[in-house]
Amino acid sequence: MSTTPIAASKKVNLRRPGIMEAVQQQVEQHYRSVVVEKLRASGNVLSAAGLTVRLAKQFGFCYGVERAIDLAYSARKVFKDKKIYILGEIIHNPEVNEQIGRMGIKSLAGPNSEASPDDVTADDVVIVPAFGAEVDTMSRLQAIGCQLVDTTCGDVLSVWKRVTQYASEQITSIIHGKAWHEETKATSSRALAKGPGHYLVVYDLAETDYVCNYIRHGGSKEEFLKKFEGAHSPDFDPDRDLQCIGLANQTTMLRSETEDVQRRLRQAILDRYGEKELVQRFRFFDTICGATQERQDALDQLLAQPLDLMIVVGGYNSSNTSHLVEMSEGRHPTYFIKSASMIASDKLIRHYSLKFQKEIETENWMPVGRSAAIGVTAGASCPNNLIEETIRRLFELRGVSLEGLLAS
Ligand code: SF4
Repeated sequence: MSTTPIAASKKVNLRRPGIMEAVQQQVEQHYRSVVVEKLRASGNVLSAAGLTVRLAKQFGFCYGVERAIDLAYSARKVFKDKKIYILGEIIHNPEVNEQIGRMGIKSLAGPNSEASPDDVTADDVVIVPAFGAEVDTMSRLQAIGCQLVDTTCGDVLSVWKRVTQYASEQITSIIHGKAWHEETKATSSRALAKGPGHYLVVYDLAETDYVCNYIRHGGSKEEFLKKFEGAHSPDFDPDRDLQCIGLANQTTMLRSETEDVQRRLRQAILDRYGEKELVQRFRFFDTICGATQERQDALDQLLAQPLDLMIVVGGYNSSNTSHLVEMSEGRHPTYFIKSASMIASDKLIRHYSLKFQKEIETENWMPVGRSAAIGVTAGASCPNNLIEETIRRLFELRGVSLEGLLAS
């Protein structure tokens, strides 16, 4: 990429009338499901031939994902003759990403990248996905002078605001998230955006406890930095930078775990510095997004019902979807599938294992010859047409056509 002076991206209204009608039509054609809408309208339960499918009350596309997809489709219509790139994946769903690729939008990063950031020129358009991008990446694109279509979700922007605020008060941001996830990388970079700032990303409760122990008793700085390699700001010093901390999180984490992370770190600061200094040394702000919360709450309700098993539909690299799988795994046999094509028969299913980080096969996964209740949910990046195909496939295995069933 070139290093010309930074220029603001030109403002273009992508959501103007005429364009948006055409976008809506195309988006509905690609991802809408009349079957899912009917199911929603009739209490989210469908039964036939001894099979009951219970759909969570909230599932699938969130407002941030819908907006990002609308803007990407709209960019294709408005900038008809321009090269359009996207920073990685628009969202974490293979079906949606393939569709975006078929529209001639080329990915600049990730496993399926078809172009390099060095290919971008001032004449091109670059779409920033819903999880945002790192400060350096945005500066480089602005320096090139290309047209930016920024689809960063408002809920992600709220987290950035919080982290930027912590940095301005010399408070270290402790981010509960996945250090390798695009959103967390983008959030971490905000801690360094306006001069000296610090951040540390904690992934789970075990890492949180390690940090808490360091806050209470100190320890080996070398060991600390090795353990959190790639998850802290460049000159991080745990002896200096854990004295005043402010919490934030990736928007799609498991709420119960995030609350635990907050509680444990608060207690560690309290134990080390006492009640009087708590207000100065510990800040927190709940940055789980509303859509993630609604999907987790709806799954909790669904899991409380009698079920033989659960199916979670979504992209394997989708953070919010994996958390739905984690919630479900502790309660019922759970199968995480990217599409209905993973259901080979009532004897065999291919599904993603979070434990082994790969697809595995399970035999005799579905009750046969007796009644069965199956729960279905999907992450915030999963379109309704994939949910429909899954439900259709489940009833097919019992010899029932979904159309016939919904018409009756
Ligand atoms: S999951 Fe939440 S933060 Fe992410 S795009 Fe959807 S609404 Fe925005």
